[in-house]
Amino acid sequence: MAEAPLAPAAPLLVVDSLDKVYGSGDTATHALQGVSFEFAEAEFAAIIGQSGSGKSTLLNLLGLLDTPTSGTVTYRGTDIGSLGKPRRAELRNSLIGFVFQFHHLLPEFSVYENVVMPALIAGVPDDAELRRRAEETLGLLDLEGVADKNANALSGGQKQRVAIARALVNRPALVLADEPTGNLDTTNTGLVYDLFRSINEQTGTAFIIVTHDRNVAQRTDRILEVRDGLLIADERNRYIGWGDVPAGARRRQPV
Ligand code: ADP
Ligand code: MG
Repeated sequence: MAEAPLAPAAPLLVVDSLDKVYGSGDTATHALQGVSFEFAEAEFAAIIGQSGSGKSTLLNLLGLLDTPTSGTVTYRGTDIGSLGKPRRAELRNSLIGFVFQFHHLLPEFSVYENVVMPALIAGVPDDAELRRRAEETLGLLDLEGVADKNANALSGGQKQRVAIARALVNRPALVLADEPTGNLDTTNTGLVYDLFRSINEQTGTAFIIVTHDRNVAQRTDRILEVRDGLLIADERNRYIGWGDVPAGARRRQPV
């Protein structure tokens, strides 16, 4: 008799029936309502939706920065709601990297010190390993030359690249980016997109990018659209390059 096939590996992330209510009574805001989807290792996706639609709320729940009112977030088969706080924090630190609209660098510290901060928090013990990781990560982002500079001596685009390096230093399986190019000009937006894409391809890191920028969203592989707390679309997106593409050239298909 043939052997039973191995069970397929659990997806990177499964989100099931997520609800989030802020406040209570008359002032309650139902920010998310029954959001469910699966996300594979190494996927590269965007979340779009109008201001106030629930995008950041969703990202914070995926990032284990907040807990849902109901519903579950499961990483690689582990229901995060079943874990105690220390284990949750440990998973967050090792599995997930965050990039925000504002870089939140520590201005009095060097680029190197900013980048290794999450590795220090994760308890990477020795200096040689820290330096090796930092150099590799700074290399990925073309920042080798500025490692010893103070963070506040950099341009806006460079600062955001340092923030991306910091998000990657613990080799996360998933990067969650909330409007990462919201504060950048077109050139730096293109640069950040290209870096995300090349890191995704080189390292297999998955990306979920909340963005208002159609140029960014239409160059990801999957677009999740949120409206009034509901996931109203989840579509595969045909990848197009960063170069000029005629309007309407994008093709979207249901997942
Ligand atoms: P988006 O990121 O799409 O702009 P948010 O997730 O920030 O949307 O917000 C979704 C809804 O939840 C909005 O109505 C917002 O005002 C509300 N909201 C977000 N965070 C909080 C909070 N901490 N307390 C109360 N209401 C909140
Ligand atoms: Mg937001």
